[in-house]
Amino acid sequence: MKDTLVRAIADNAQIRAFAVRTTEMTETARKAHDTSPVVTAALGRLMSGAAMMGSMLGEEDELLTLQVDGDGPVGGLIVTADGHGSVKGYAKNPQAMCPASASGKLDVGRIVGSGYLTVIKDMGMEEPYNSRTELVTGEIGDDLAQYFVSSEQIPSGVGLGVLMNKDNTVRCAGGFIIQLMPFASEECVSRLEQALSEVRSVTALLDRGLTPEEMLREILKDVDVEITDTREVAFRCNCTRDRVERVLLSMGKTQLEELAADGEDVELNCQFCNTHYVFTPQEIRELLHNLSIEK
Ligand SMILES: [Zn+2]
Repeated sequence: MKDTLVRAIADNAQIRAFAVRTTEMTETARKAHDTSPVVTAALGRLMSGAAMMGSMLGEEDELLTLQVDGDGPVGGLIVTADGHGSVKGYAKNPQAMCPASASGKLDVGRIVGSGYLTVIKDMGMEEPYNSRTELVTGEIGDDLAQYFVSSEQIPSGVGLGVLMNKDNTVRCAGGFIIQLMPFASEECVSRLEQALSEVRSVTALLDRGLTPEEMLREILKDVDVEITDTREVAFRCNCTRDRVERVLLSMGKTQLEELAADGEDVELNCQFCNTHYVFTPQEIRELLHNLSIEK
């Protein structure tokens, strides 16, 4: 089953809502980065939030970056999402571990620690929008909700979850963001507060096999829910060998000559998807040759 994302309006458009399934995306990230179960959970939650926030971007060329900088063992997480449903991300210390929480759950708050969430929206042309808020719990969902309230003045309920199999592969992942529009009535506000207070566990909803649409209908008790958009989302990186070659070339002629003279393969690694690009001394000499032709 492919990962999908839905956008919806509800309660006479007083509510806008997003829900996403990111099971494949999170498993792809886990395999690419060989993350520990608790880091897989942290990264999967952040990617789920980013996938939904990416779908809020106005123009399709815009890029959203979520950066979590905490003092916990994971050392930080960076995720990007675009308007096409492509999400990618990594953790600074992918193998970091910590004891389970008192209730026996993966302790995402503890692996992240205290610190800051930075939201960057790059619209391509002007200075990127940049907002930094303090982490509330490091559980990611609470932290994104806090960002929406304090930076965008949008009261939001955010639920994110990742459930692992016994063999440490991803069983299910995903989440929802439900937001109140400025003109929402008092009745709508209390209905939503009541509905959100009854959501015990996002992973339980996902584990029942609910689609993102069914998840929203269940949480919002089917109050006039209208799905306005359904799209595929996936872990996709835009790195290519061409791009990596340009990075090599930007090091300059002298350093490339030294690298070629070393006689060793040069390996460059994409942080986001962990793809290794290897250049032999001969390939570096060819790059140098092309460089001298261009000049
Ligand atoms: Zn990559």
